[in-house]
Amino acid sequence: MPYLNDMPLEARLAMLNRRDADRQPQDILKPALALLAQKIALVSSFGAESAVLLHMVAQSAPKTPVLFIDTMMLFRATLTYQKSLTKYLGLENVTHISPDPGRVFLHDNEGLLHQSNTDACCTLRKGEPLQKALTPFSAWITGRKRHQSATRADMAIWEADETGRLKLNPLAHWSRDDIDAYFGTHNLPRHPLTDNGYPSIGCAPCTFRARPGMDDRAGRWPGQSKTECDIHLPVEPKNA
Ligand code: SF4
Repeated sequence: MPYLNDMPLEARLAMLNRRDADRQPQDILKPALALLAQKIALVSSFGAESAVLLHMVAQSAPKTPVLFIDTMMLFRATLTYQKSLTKYLGLENVTHISPDPGRVFLHDNEGLLHQSNTDACCTLRKGEPLQKALTPFSAWITGRKRHQSATRADMAIWEADETGRLKLNPLAHWSRDDIDAYFGTHNLPRHPLTDNGYPSIGCAPCTFRARPGMDDRAGRWPGQSKTECDIHLPVEPKNA
């Protein structure tokens, strides 16, 4: 199969990116979901634009594992939206993943770690539980797009994470207009906070409104050099 074979990882990524660079997201997703069934998971925040990718996956393979990272710091509106959208789309295999309670007790008992060390907080509440949840999978799907921020501008369709697991970004080349058009065509419900000026939605303490004309992700950790949590930091592909 083109996804998992004996080719060195770097060569495999180059081959997949050559093949998929100009394809529409649905045409990238369908064969990947079919050939990697139950070996690939969609990781979703059920945030501002998540409904698009969740809908595409639900249309092609509703039993695809979907991992929802509940950091225990999310907006209540996100938790409500997650439940209603899952039902609306007919997703059949959504798993909530959350931080290890013992490690939270040890390192962030008062829930204030985000005020002193956002990197450590993201690792504790997102990075560690996600890596554990991804253990059985050979590949995962994200909803990131190049237009969202300067740091995502060069993102490839296919990447690898630090363990050598394939990471698929089928919407990488879609613009905000593409996303809006898809919402309209399929009559998808929006996250309630998008109408209140939040173009990107993560944890409540670290998400703020973005002013018009700014990057979509400008409201995430504003005033800090941080632009990504550790689950999406770029890595050099290691052969695996
Ligand atoms: Fe902690 Fe903020 Fe990262 Fe959420 S986004 S895990 S609250 S630092």
